[in-house]
Amino acid sequence: MNAEIIAVGSELLLGQIANTNAQFLSQQLAMLGINVYFHTVVGDNAGRLEQAVKTAQTRANLIIFTGGLGPTKDDLTKETIARLLGRRLVIDEEALRAIEAYFARTNRPMTENNKKQALVLEGSTVLKNEHGMAPGMALVADGITYMLLPGPPKEMRPMFKKYGNAFLRRTFSLSERIESRVLRFFGIGESALETAIADLIDAQSNPTIAPLAGDGEVTLRLTAKHQDEAEAKRLLDEVESAILARVGRHCYGYNDETLFTKTLERLKERGWTIASAESLTGGLFLEQLTALPGASQVVQGGVVCYTNGVKEQVLGIPRTLLEAEGAVSEPCARLLAENVRAMCDADIGISFTGVAGPDPLEGHPPGTVYIGIAVRGRDATVHRLTLSGTRDAIRIRTAKYGCFFLLEM
Ligand code: ATP
Ligand code: MG
Repeated sequence: MNAEIIAVGSELLLGQIANTNAQFLSQQLAMLGINVYFHTVVGDNAGRLEQAVKTAQTRANLIIFTGGLGPTKDDLTKETIARLLGRRLVIDEEALRAIEAYFARTNRPMTENNKKQALVLEGSTVLKNEHGMAPGMALVADGITYMLLPGPPKEMRPMFKKYGNAFLRRTFSLSERIESRVLRFFGIGESALETAIADLIDAQSNPTIAPLAGDGEVTLRLTAKHQDEAEAKRLLDEVESAILARVGRHCYGYNDETLFTKTLERLKERGWTIASAESLTGGLFLEQLTALPGASQVVQGGVVCYTNGVKEQVLGIPRTLLEAEGAVSEPCARLLAENVRAMCDADIGISFTGVAGPDPLEGHPPGTVYIGIAVRGRDATVHRLTLSGTRDAIRIRTAKYGCFFLLEM
């Protein structure tokens, strides 16, 4: 069995939006164990859409469309497929009632073309739209399964997860459960990680282990197949334990967790507050933390101390220290962390000082970084890093290392 995804929309061809629907659907189909062989993108044009469908019919037995289910003239996916399959479009009463209710609720007059959204292919299974108006639909004709989904991701994604997925399971008698889990690593490179678990990767069959690197992080996606969900989870647990026994120190979380969400969570658990003194990162660390809900329980405040003047006048770093040791130094990072902690009356003070590049600073090459961490009642610690990459990469990775060291405490 293999699938083709056809995304309909001229805005995709014009480069105004990226085809994230195909990305999402490919991920979902992979989890169902369905191979996707082709992604096609076609504009809002009946003739070219027809051509795309005919091509797909020669090479796929599942064709999933997104986009073009709306009420406007350029929305022509349903009409085109109806014509090609020789099927009528009929009003789906339930969808029509939902659309009418929507207009009543929002106090807007319903126009005639909105009715068009309740039209579905005769004989198809209607996929309810709980986040918009146009319903989706699915049907099997001449051995090929067609599924039509709306374009807006916030409508399409929940529709597929709730109804599309179940339709495919039924139609293709997919009984195997596919469970997957992403382990997230930081502070270790992709090749070092792969080397550490090379034998596990070589021996993999079920679960599979798929590494992926990006943004200074590495992830491992573990995927297990089994008829029984609990057994699939047990297989995942087993391989996860084997991996963590070797590189567990670098694993900070699962799935959608980030270093920042984990840090906030950990500080909350401990009832600790934090303040930051940010030279190199210019506020990036606090920006990431305060973007998260619940930050107010943890974040006390901070100082962007970009120049030596601010380091001296606001954070009380002696000029003699700045002259003798430099701003990019262990003692400076230590004192920045201690002073910002005391100044903001926080439980933890963290400081970031270093060289983002592209030019060297105080004789240090780009990527030289010091992170100071001061905890109330304890001696401060300072971590020295040598990072590589662009200015942006160095700055964000520095902020992430700050989280990593906080999580290690
Ligand atoms: P509507 O009822 O909103 O018109 P529709 O099913 O007719 O929905 P389109 O008109 O094709 O869908 O697209 C509506 C919007 O959905 C687009 O402007 C775009 O923001 C988003 N969208 C469409 N296709 C994709 C895609 N392949 N990937 C990501 N977003 C998409
Ligand atoms: Mg539309």
